[in-house]
Amino acid sequence: MKVFEVASPGAPAQEVDRPTPELACKEVLVRVTHSGVCHSDLHCAEGYFDMGDAGKAPVETLGMAFPLVLGHEIVGEVTAVGPDAGLTPGAEKYIVFPWIGCGSCGACQEDRENSCTGARRNISLQKDGGFAREVWLPDERYLIPVGDLDPSWAATLACSGLTGYSAVTKALTSEVDRPIAVIGTGGVGLSAVVLLKARGHKNIVAADVSEDSLKNAKAAGATSTVLTTGEDPVKDIVEAGGGKLATVIDFVNNTATSSIALGTLGTGGKLVSVGLFGGQLAFPTTLIALQQLKIEGNFVGSLPELRDLVDLAKSTELPQLPITEKPLEADEVNAALKAIDERTISGRTVLVAD
Ligand SMILES: [Zn+2]
Ligand SMILES: [Zn+2]
Repeated sequence: MKVFEVASPGAPAQEVDRPTPELACKEVLVRVTHSGVCHSDLHCAEGYFDMGDAGKAPVETLGMAFPLVLGHEIVGEVTAVGPDAGLTPGAEKYIVFPWIGCGSCGACQEDRENSCTGARRNISLQKDGGFAREVWLPDERYLIPVGDLDPSWAATLACSGLTGYSAVTKALTSEVDRPIAVIGTGGVGLSAVVLLKARGHKNIVAADVSEDSLKNAKAAGATSTVLTTGEDPVKDIVEAGGGKLATVIDFVNNTATSSIALGTLGTGGKLVSVGLFGGQLAFPTTLIALQQLKIEGNFVGSLPELRDLVDLAKSTELPQLPITEKPLEADEVNAALKAIDERTISGRTVLVAD
């Protein structure tokens, strides 16, 4: 089977041939028809994550090893199945759930595979991803039918959509009028604004350094917006929400935004940390205790959450990110990663097979 592998940190993706695996049990082989290109593919191709003052963490610390086959926003068709699988190969399109765990730890047993504490099998990290003609999956259960959804957009639900959905799940409380802020309303943050509204929240503060992003957030359902370049962004956010906040979802999550976020929270409030922009937490620890604040990290989401999101997408009109389709070829993988690096793309590039 042909894959587009990155041989070493910073090297371009190149098409190479790999042996096609013999399928056991409920394993499946999926022909990739649509493959989204995500910002984290760029981090992985470069070979490290930014850890703020702690420096750069090589991707090997996440159990990854070069050569890498990246790509985790995958839609495709089943071409072969193991002897125990119930699916039959055919032209039906499926979204691939890529955040696969070891299958046996406590988190995996509870269907929270994105919180796996064992040997993770995430597609595009520890296992080969969707910048390829075909992708192997350990079980057919990781496939969700695309139905009538646009397949390019459906592919993006597996990472950018799911991350927003799972962060919103952590953010929602029983009080729909208490303010929840979203910091960073570019791609994924914007989807969180949409999902907060779609799930019934009534007081959504969008905060960003860009007027354009705030305009988009307002159109997507934010009840108020705050430009965080002012003198006192904490005060501005609290005023916009009409009081101290229940939750802040921080899609930037750097030194500046995380302390702004914590400063706006009311008693018992929660910071949901999502962004991977790098930085250090700098906040009076006494206040964390006195105000009983919570900090919860969010990395993508679980298989049940992706199923719920796909159901929501099928039953509601969710606004869609702008998508640019390109042919599924190694050169286009490289061009799309370069465009993300140089910030010359807004929205998502999705690579589409013939
Ligand atoms: Zn991603
Ligand atoms: Zn596990």
